[in-house]
Amino acid sequence: MAYRTENPATGVVEQEFTSLTDADVARAVERADAAFTSWRKTPAEQRAAALAAVADAFQERGDELARVISTEMGKPFAQAQGEVALSSSIYRWYADHGPALLQEETLDVGDSAKSVVVTDPVGVLMGVMPWNFPQYQVARFAAPNLMLGNTILLKHASICARTAELIEEILHAAGIPEDAYINLFVSTDQITDVVADPRVRGVSLTGSEGAGKAVATTAAQNLKKSVLELGGSDPLVVLDDVDVSKTAKTVATARMSNAGQACNSPKRIFVPAGMFDEFVKVVVETVEAMTVGNPLEDGTDVGPLSSVQGRDDAVAQVERAVEQGATLHTGGKALDKDGAWMSPAVLTGVTREMDAFKEEIFGPVAVVYSYDSVDEAVELANDSSFGLSGSVWSSDVAKAEEIARQLEVGMTYVNEHGTTKAGLPFGGVRRSGYGRELGRWGFGEFANTKLVRVA
Ligand code: NDP
Repeated sequence: MAYRTENPATGVVEQEFTSLTDADVARAVERADAAFTSWRKTPAEQRAAALAAVADAFQERGDELARVISTEMGKPFAQAQGEVALSSSIYRWYADHGPALLQEETLDVGDSAKSVVVTDPVGVLMGVMPWNFPQYQVARFAAPNLMLGNTILLKHASICARTAELIEEILHAAGIPEDAYINLFVSTDQITDVVADPRVRGVSLTGSEGAGKAVATTAAQNLKKSVLELGGSDPLVVLDDVDVSKTAKTVATARMSNAGQACNSPKRIFVPAGMFDEFVKVVVETVEAMTVGNPLEDGTDVGPLSSVQGRDDAVAQVERAVEQGATLHTGGKALDKDGAWMSPAVLTGVTREMDAFKEEIFGPVAVVYSYDSVDEAVELANDSSFGLSGSVWSSDVAKAEEIARQLEVGMTYVNEHGTTKAGLPFGGVRRSGYGRELGRWGFGEFANTKLVRVA
């Protein structure tokens, strides 16, 4: 795709960017490979200091970065500020913890030889990142790997090109060598060539199943590792002892955050039959009270979707659900104005047979289901091809935890949904992908855990 900023709030193309030629791409791989030799030998404290400077720059330039996010993909400004702050905390976490994570470990295996495990980098990595959290997604790939001593080629979503340029500029200004982090405006074919290049040792992708399959296939054909963070259709299970009004408001707000365009948004909400009508009523009232508007204006709750295509896909999914027998309580329509606007929707009456149960809906659509027993709720929650995260809501936290542990997902929560912090692992099972990001787990994905044994 062409790299350009088409403001989804207005439909106006604000900026266009030049893509790289094949020769530029070949040169970038060569540069990143050459940079690996010196970057890996740079003292860990120096690499950590550069990441700390990145974290500082994210704090200092927070509003500027957030404004670009809002303009490129439509996230309300306050939410974009939150994303930038989270990204800063990720660079900071690896700056603070990186040197300790690199400490050698001596093993006692019952003999007199010395057995030591060291954590080495592996080389050049390719990152393919999406538009929905354009700063955060890059941070959780770049920060651990730069700390480790790997070098990075980064292909960002074509609609977030200005963000991609800003990240590169900030990293270089903070002391990451120019060739240790290289932004690539490249095509899908060029990505394939980069992933296949023997000097590139691994690839990490966050995005759709199709894109994940494409890069993972190329990686497998060339016997190299991939980490995939794909979609999700996260279950959120409400138990019968919650404060209905408070919980319904919180859940509706969580679902509509970032116009519902988060892999770990609570896309399937399960509510006991006894409180279902009241719960749905509050969800609908909450959603209808939201301000859908200019992402740069104070008080906006829901901005446009990231693109007209994304909006059309979400509206079509709502229409198909209704055709198949679901009830639409509010919203779900494209707004009659330029840009990628859609009114936030609430659906009920979705059954297992319907597409809306099986597919991920990547937009502002809350789908609320009724259940009769907790066992049924858990069974429904686990009846998904996805397995990213899930949550259970109750005033009995011990009971909720026991149920939360039964969810077949990579991350499970009680009385919150999708909390992400630099030190916590992030990732899924099933078709949500494989591998983990963040914390010490994200540090290990592209590391050579090397045994050094001296007899
Ligand atoms: P994509 O998967 O198309 O985009 C994500 C990244 O992958 C972008 O950088 C994109 O580049 C790149 N890409 C696309 N196709 C290929 C390919 N064949 N090989 C290599 N890289 C590729 O996501 P969409 O924007 O199309 O969103 C579609 C769906 O993906 C959503 O509805 C949602 O289900 C899922 N998604 C999940 C995300 C998550 O956080 N897990 C984030 C975004 C999307 P380019 O922009 O140039 O096309």
